[in-house]
Parts: sequence; structure tokens; C-alpha cells
Amino acid sequence: MSNRESAEQAPATPNTLETLSPSRAGDFKVCPQLFKFKAIDKIEVPPTVYQARGTTAHLALQWLFDLAPAERTPERLYELFRRAWIELRDIEFPGLFDTIEQERAWGMESLQVLSNYFLVEDPTALEPLDRELDMTEALGDITIRGILDRMEEEPDGLVITDYKTGQAPPERYAIPAFFALKIYALLIRKRTGRTPVRLKLMYLNGPTVYEIPVNDAQLDATQRKLEALWAAINRAIVRNDFPTRPGRLCDWCQYRDRCPAFSEEPAPDAAIAS
Ligand code: SF4
Repeated sequence: MSNRESAEQAPATPNTLETLSPSRAGDFKVCPQLFKFKAIDKIEVPPTVYQARGTTAHLALQWLFDLAPAERTPERLYELFRRAWIELRDIEFPGLFDTIEQERAWGMESLQVLSNYFLVEDPTALEPLDRELDMTEALGDITIRGILDRMEEEPDGLVITDYKTGQAPPERYAIPAFFALKIYALLIRKRTGRTPVRLKLMYLNGPTVYEIPVNDAQLDATQRKLEALWAAINRAIVRNDFPTRPGRLCDWCQYRDRCPAFSEEPAPDAAIAS
């Protein structure tokens, strides 16, 4: 998860959480223990080259729409990526690469991923309404805080777009990412009084675009799920009970080496039996 997504505020006391981001809500659904590592314990993990690519690409794509439409070319986007990296490198990712050659190879691969953007969208034909929009809204008892990548007005209504620089998972594994986007759609509905019509996940490493329509009934259901999730999170905090959910995600979970599901300590019963 990139630094731009870590939007929760520190707990006011050990037993409360003041805000919840759509990303962390998705984490709790996938694995409560993962949520605990990130949102409660706030365990720092070293940033990865993938996070560096994601954060830098998001900034470059944000800046792309500051340019006049005719200037939104691949060459200008690559230039913006280089500029964004220079801005971020020493502040957010110091010492990420051991050698200049490694950094250069990463940069070349990143530009290759970014070039795919032009295969899925023509930025000269698009004027986003908002980019990197800081959203903080109260929904019932919950304050949701997160950063929305992009929102545009299309002929049929508002569309919310989320950029991903990783490879697209099979569509069924994109459901948690859509849950986060539905939360953003809820916040937009609350803030503007308008219901977005579509949600779009744009995976540049592929590239692959997944889109789903949304309507008021779906967003009402998302709000009910979110309220139930918030209640579950608060119960987990009070009981200090965050179960592990081993699965496909564990293969790239940055907390795996400290996760109880993969602890090398023998279980007490096993130790007695041996
Ligand atoms: S390794 Fe797997 S079970 Fe453990 S915290 Fe990460 S996702 Fe959850």
C-alpha cells in the first residue's frame, strides 16, 4: 500500500479508531490480522519498488491533466514520471535501490507500464472534474478518510476511476478493490448529492480495465455493509481479536514474517505431545 493511502489517524486511545480509509476497510474484510498490523499497530514496513512505482505514477498521471490536451503525450507523461521520482525519491523512498543500474532498470520498467495507459484511454479527450481528491466525510458513526484518484463527468453521469500499477488479478479478486471504490462513491453521493454511475479499475500492467455500474440501491447496501464492518472492527478492538485469514494474499503480504498464521513456534498442545 502506498504512502498516499495510509490515511487513518492515530487512535485517540488504544481502544478507538477515529477514521477509517476505504483501503483499510477492504483489508479488514480480507484479513482482520492484516488490518491490525496496518491500522492498529501501525507497523512500519520498508517501502517496495512496487509502491514506489505506484506513488510516482499516480503523481505523474495527476500532473498530466494540468497540461493542455494536445500536450498529453507519452513523452510528456514519461517526463512527468521522471520529475515526480526526483521529487519523491529522497523523501519517501530513500535508499530503495542499491545501485544506479537497479534504479535505471526500475525506471525503464515503470515507463513501459505507463506506456500502457495510452492503450486504454485517450487523455486528450478527457477533462477530469477532480484528481487526488482528499475525501473526509462522516457516514453515520464513521468518519471515512481517503484519497480518490480521479472523477470525471461522462455523458451518462459521474465516473470514479482508480489507477493500479500492478497486474490485474482475475476479475473475482478485484471485488475488494471495488468495495473501496463503492465507499468513495458513497462519499461523493453524500458530498455532491449525485450518485456516480460507474466505477473503473484501471490496471496499467497488462493493461486491463474492469468497470461496474453503480446505483443508489447498491450504495445503500454498501453503507449497510460498511456500518456492519465498523461494528465488527470495534468489537475486534475491544476484544483484541483479529483472526488471520491465510490465503492467496499471504504470498505477498509484507507482515507474513510476524503473522501468527506462519509462526514457527509450535502450538502449546503440539509441544506437550512431542
Ligand atoms: S500473512 Fe496472510 S494471514 Fe497473515 S496477516 Fe498477512 S494476509 Fe493475513
